[in-house]
Amino acid sequence: MSGYPEQVRVREVGPRDGFQNEPERIATADKIRLIDGLARTGLAHMEVASFVRPDVIPQLDDAVAVLDGIDVPDGVALSVLVPNERGLQTALEHKDRFHDVAIFLSASETHNKKNVNRSIEQSLEALERMVPVIKGEGLRCSAVIATSFGCPYEGPVDPGKVFEIGGRLEAAGIDELGFGDTTGMANPRQVREFFGRAFELSGLELTAHFHNTRGQGLANVLAALETGVRSFESSFGELGGCPVPPGSTGNIATEDLISMLHEMGIGTGVDLDALIEVSRAVQEVLGRRLTSHVIVAGPVGWGAVRP
Ligand code: ZN
Repeated sequence: MSGYPEQVRVREVGPRDGFQNEPERIATADKIRLIDGLARTGLAHMEVASFVRPDVIPQLDDAVAVLDGIDVPDGVALSVLVPNERGLQTALEHKDRFHDVAIFLSASETHNKKNVNRSIEQSLEALERMVPVIKGEGLRCSAVIATSFGCPYEGPVDPGKVFEIGGRLEAAGIDELGFGDTTGMANPRQVREFFGRAFELSGLELTAHFHNTRGQGLANVLAALETGVRSFESSFGELGGCPVPPGSTGNIATEDLISMLHEMGIGTGVDLDALIEVSRAVQEVLGRRLTSHVIVAGPVGWGAVRP
């Protein structure tokens, strides 16, 4: 077991992964207010928009208005998700508004087909064309491989296949490689073995993107931390999920992640109280209660003395 780090990086993906999976379309003004609030909690990395087809994901059809409307402090690195070359072209028209382009595909043929209607090879070939374009514009490029730890349609996913895809993307010039447990199928033992191998194969910053669909999200974070992962993605309020299949709810909640890391003495730069306040405000926007642990219970040492 490696020692724990003093600091890890957390990228907030709620404004994209979260809002995308809400049944109701969130008003642009509310998105802007929430992103501006999140950006003032100390979160230094945020994925805030996606250039997907509006007829496919209408919840995110206001990417340009969101990017134009937000006012985030200097030093907050913004990321936008692009699904394909067409989305990238649109995104690049607004390239002064963000720092990083996130690209993705699935490690499972069936999930990739259902998610982006392409084979893995077709997706990879497009991404291999896109990465040099992104880098040529002076932007950072991060990639996420979805269903890295299991596919709801195909079952187990061969890590060798995931690393082969990762190797192609690394060769294409990406800066960061993320592995998504898109439908919450990973377990801590698997995560430990997976990242142990990943660090042998890759020289990139490796990021863990866990979902808490079955309650194993933070256990997986711990396993990843212990193999040397220093970069995590999470979603405030435990928002998020995956468009396919239905019922794939819940990224790990940013406030639960931050709370655990801080209790372990691992810094994140995030003000947990401020983050909880923003997460609670989202409940009013969504018209429902959010159920991340720390939203319900409050931070450690606080709940017991609350009136
Ligand atoms: Zn996700």
